[in-house]
Amino acid sequence: METLFVKGIYRNSRILVGEPLKLLREHIPGQNVFIITDKNLHRLYCRHIPSYPVYVMEPGEGNKTINNAAKICKWLMDKGAGRDAFILGVGGGVVCDMTGFVGSIFLRGVEFGFVATSLMAQIDAAIGGKNGVNLNGYKNIMGTIRQPAFVMCDTKMLNSLPEEEIKHGLAEAVKHSLISDRQMFKTLKDHGESLLKLEEELVYKLVNRSVKTKIEIVNRDEVEQGERRKLNLGHTWGHAVEKTDRIPHGQAISIGLVFAAKLSEHRGKLSTAERAEIVSLLMKLGLPVKSETGPKTIFKALLKDKKKETDHIHFVLMDGIGDVVVEPIPIQELKAFVKLL
Ligand SMILES: [Zn+2]
Repeated sequence: METLFVKGIYRNSRILVGEPLKLLREHIPGQNVFIITDKNLHRLYCRHIPSYPVYVMEPGEGNKTINNAAKICKWLMDKGAGRDAFILGVGGGVVCDMTGFVGSIFLRGVEFGFVATSLMAQIDAAIGGKNGVNLNGYKNIMGTIRQPAFVMCDTKMLNSLPEEEIKHGLAEAVKHSLISDRQMFKTLKDHGESLLKLEEELVYKLVNRSVKTKIEIVNRDEVEQGERRKLNLGHTWGHAVEKTDRIPHGQAISIGLVFAAKLSEHRGKLSTAERAEIVSLLMKLGLPVKSETGPKTIFKALLKDKKKETDHIHFVLMDGIGDVVVEPIPIQELKAFVKLL
């Protein structure tokens, strides 16, 4: 087990990688604890988490709404939660986002923490202090940047996940390796199958390295004025694919990474061999590399999302494997490039 630290403006955060769930109580401050989880996880873990009042939400991204956040706030009021309340989210990205959002706004902010139950949450979503809810199909359009007191990443909890969900988390791990960890890219290439089988030591190492990559960037740029944009690698195109194809986030990010690799190759930053290496790794991990929808339709959806950037769009490009740069790319150039796909 290793504790990693995020240094936030309002508070610091401890990321407990490999800490077993049974030690949860030791990390929770005070007695006024309220738990948020979803139906599926409640069934799995209700016997393993301390008995505090529990709010059980419906699972799924579609339930990450301001209305549901308001419902949770009302529930907290009914339960008599005060300024000394501690809100604990037990779940994947959606539950952690909701918990962080509610924790940041309820009574102008109370303490909160997460038990991250999915690989995606342990590697990415629960780390870094971004807490958002969706509005009218637009993702995370309202939100806060507030660090949780702690994030517990018990890698043994991943054993209860279906393989599909492991794949989705691995897409974000590939992203982190492409941003700044060539060695991890090699590990993913050499041990992809063992990772899918959740070989214990490898999974621990993967989560540990991924969290380190992310927090190094967050510690330099918590509120995304520059460097944190690097974490959007694959996400500009990926979010558009997520909308048009209505596929899970991890799958869409895999397709987004392939697009970013092709664009990087087109701009002379990535060799053809490196691009092929990235595509073959994603395929090996059982992730899609091509969308159902044609590139022109995806591009239209992307432009709709990026209305504010009128003549260019900021893209994260790969500068070889293990390094990235953020560059504004003229929309006309992108249009011409999309035609070539
Ligand atoms: Zn993502």
